[in-house]
Amino acid sequence: MLNIALFGPPGAGKGTQSEFLLKKFNLFYISTGDLLRKEIAEKTKLGLEAQNIIASGGLVSDEIIVQIIEKTITDNPNANGFLFDGFPRTYVQAYILEGLMLKLNTSLNCLININVDEEESVSRLLNRGKTSGRSDDNEKVIRNRLVEYDVKTRPVMQFYKDRGVYFEVDGHDSIENVNKKIINILQDELSKSLYNIVLFGYPGCGRGSQGKALAEKYGLEYIATGKMLESEIEQKTEVGMKILELYENGQLVPDEIVVQLIEKKLENSKGVKGYIFKGFPRTLVQSYILDGLLKKHGSKISKVIEFEVPMLELINRLDARSKTDKRMPYDSSTAKIVKRLQEHEKKTIPVIEKYEQLHDFKKIDGMGTFEEVFERTVVDIEKSMRHTR
Ligand code: AMP
Repeated sequence: MLNIALFGPPGAGKGTQSEFLLKKFNLFYISTGDLLRKEIAEKTKLGLEAQNIIASGGLVSDEIIVQIIEKTITDNPNANGFLFDGFPRTYVQAYILEGLMLKLNTSLNCLININVDEEESVSRLLNRGKTSGRSDDNEKVIRNRLVEYDVKTRPVMQFYKDRGVYFEVDGHDSIENVNKKIINILQDELSKSLYNIVLFGYPGCGRGSQGKALAEKYGLEYIATGKMLESEIEQKTEVGMKILELYENGQLVPDEIVVQLIEKKLENSKGVKGYIFKGFPRTLVQSYILDGLLKKHGSKISKVIEFEVPMLELINRLDARSKTDKRMPYDSSTAKIVKRLQEHEKKTIPVIEKYEQLHDFKKIDGMGTFEEVFERTVVDIEKSMRHTR
């Protein structure tokens, strides 16, 4: 999710720049000014309350703003990101925005101040007043809007400077140049955020080999929980010994152990561009755990892929693998293979169904050669990266 706020005095060009950015980054537009004008046009209770304040160039109360903005955000939880124009306009609204973003498990990526001086603002707004039909585009009201901006809105900058997400561009420059500079800032920000992929598919569908190749291609850290458990056993670590004991007693490895291992891996792989998870989450409980682990690193799931292979082909592949030295301990008998397929059906399918609703989700045809499947996957990942970048 990319969430941005365009900041600056009235007439800075926030609306104009928004139009370009919405398309380029596929964002949902929230202009509190537009929302208020709509309430006024529809003569709602909120609109009637706001009408006189807007006409005089004052700021409407934070209470009114909360009501209109909360509804718009919560009505669109699946947006690719939000672009706020004319909000937050007070220090209190900055806190409100923080709370609303938190509710969606996200935050504001950047506040971009389009800086123009007072006389430029006035002359642009007077010019706009000739055609905008807006009653507040006249000199007396414009001057009042600028006073409100200085007194109540300017302090908002410090809120975002303190959080390291404040950026500034010179708004006197041409529309195209301002646009280019904003795009550069946003692309820089996006490249800093992690790209996290979760891979699904029945055992034997090829997610392991595809996952490793994808990790290499995109500079992502490959996290396969099964392999992590095995390597603890091989290294005879304290945890490894505990896991071995559980295996030998035919017990499942508890989530606490898996969580600790993933947490350690995330801590130790700072500087990567993101993660690819294979074999985790396997249950709904683990899906909540993953959200929490990623959130701790200021991140979240970016893409979910499920490789589809017909059951008969899966059984053939697993059976063939069991006769080679790539054999996994759990491939050794038909009973074990069937048990794994059943476990997937019972516990992991509900996670896939949940992700289908919540995330950028794609089923990829897993039939064909490794290269063919890889190519299909890459095409899809690049499309979704472009979508968010
Ligand atoms: P705009 O279209 O952003 O220039 O907003 C027009 C008018 O709507 C402003 O002068 C304010 O009276 C009111 N308004 C818009 N957004 C806000 C906000 N976030 N907080 C308070 N008042 C606002």
